[in-house]
Amino acid sequence: MNEYDSNRILDLVKTIGYVATDNSLEADCYVLNTCHIREKATDKVYHDIGRVKKEFRNKKKPMLIVMGCVAQAENQEMLKREKYIDGVVGPQSYHQIPNIIKKIENDKSKINSTDFEVIEKFDSLNLIKNSNSKISSYLTIQEGCDKFCKFCVVPYTRGPEFSRSFDEIINESKQLIANGAKEITLLGQNVNAYKYKNHTKIYRLSDLIFKLNSIKKLKRIRYTTSHPRDVTEDLIEAHKKCEKLMPILHLPVQSGSSRILKAMNRNHNIKEYHNIIANLKQVKPNIKFSSDFIIGYPGETESDFQDTLKLIAKIQFINSYSFIYSPRPGTPASELTNVEKEVAKKRLIKLQNVLEKINKQSKKSFLNKSTEVLFENKMKNQDKYFGRDKFLNSVVVESKQDLTGLLVNVKINNFNHNSLFGEIIVDKIKDCAA
Ligand code: SF4
Repeated sequence: MNEYDSNRILDLVKTIGYVATDNSLEADCYVLNTCHIREKATDKVYHDIGRVKKEFRNKKKPMLIVMGCVAQAENQEMLKREKYIDGVVGPQSYHQIPNIIKKIENDKSKINSTDFEVIEKFDSLNLIKNSNSKISSYLTIQEGCDKFCKFCVVPYTRGPEFSRSFDEIINESKQLIANGAKEITLLGQNVNAYKYKNHTKIYRLSDLIFKLNSIKKLKRIRYTTSHPRDVTEDLIEAHKKCEKLMPILHLPVQSGSSRILKAMNRNHNIKEYHNIIANLKQVKPNIKFSSDFIIGYPGETESDFQDTLKLIAKIQFINSYSFIYSPRPGTPASELTNVEKEVAKKRLIKLQNVLEKINKQSKKSFLNKSTEVLFENKMKNQDKYFGRDKFLNSVVVESKQDLTGLLVNVKINNFNHNSLFGEIIVDKIKDCAA
């Protein structure tokens, strides 16, 4: 989502004459768009500010604005702690960035803009075209969360659930497609909680998917991140009927133990999770799943951990994320007693070994087979192209022909931890522009 936000921030500042630069030393204004999900996020921001200060030691100081969820969580504190910062702007008020920059330029004042103005934000953004021209583009449809998992900061930094209007989203999709996008990933902290009501209808995520599926020039649709609780029947129907909806779903489970899920306030149990997977597999037999795992959540016993391993063995998640639990200030879980660090570490290593084995097995299963790849870009200084298959695997091939934006069948002949490698099956190139 920060990538989407950063692109939109760029669209906004263009209206007051600012452009992006690859040469950081040329910058008149630095924007650090921050994420608060990972551990030590705040420390990393101060570290980055230290780097900017060093770079500009003998030069005119650039304007420095911290945006995103760290800005939201820390707000005034940041301005007090680091005098180099000119503004802190939360993720729900970044539409004000042109005015904020002007104000800092003119008044030399420090700005703190951390109110939740999500309706106003999207009203402003709708007036400015999305200029992102990536083959695979992100599009925010929903923000915030009302679920309050006990470990998570999102409800406090992004605010309550908010869904953009159906028409706005379709309009913006058309802009992205006109700019060259062949794949759109619909984004939200709780993307499948999307619910927009106008005077005639309640629109859900499935309505957006069905509509996008009917747009000829768009080739692929994805969505992330989902909550198991919001995998509704209509969404399963979309997986069944929309051939452009890719057969991989990132469906965070966090733990394989219903006892821990309850302690986390996840609002679903393992039986329900298995049912969702079974229902999706029934309508889309080749669908694969990835997930997030928190290891060593307060109260996690060896038996809870074994339940997580059992779940992984059963579902065979590919490309998952796993971390040792670390408390986020202000969340209810931060007041609980942590599992011993060494115990949690050992569990994480065990779990990551299992996930890695599955990942390797999954990549190996592509060997000598053909897979359809959407090529996104040429790799720097090489005659190689980077793309992704339907399951989000990175695929690299050598080619003298420009493959950018093409859907090509590739025969896989090698793989490593991160990517599949192969050669294009020349007679099978399909021009996406067709
Ligand atoms: S559902 Fe996701 S975003 Fe919402 S509180 Fe839980 S982990 Fe955080």
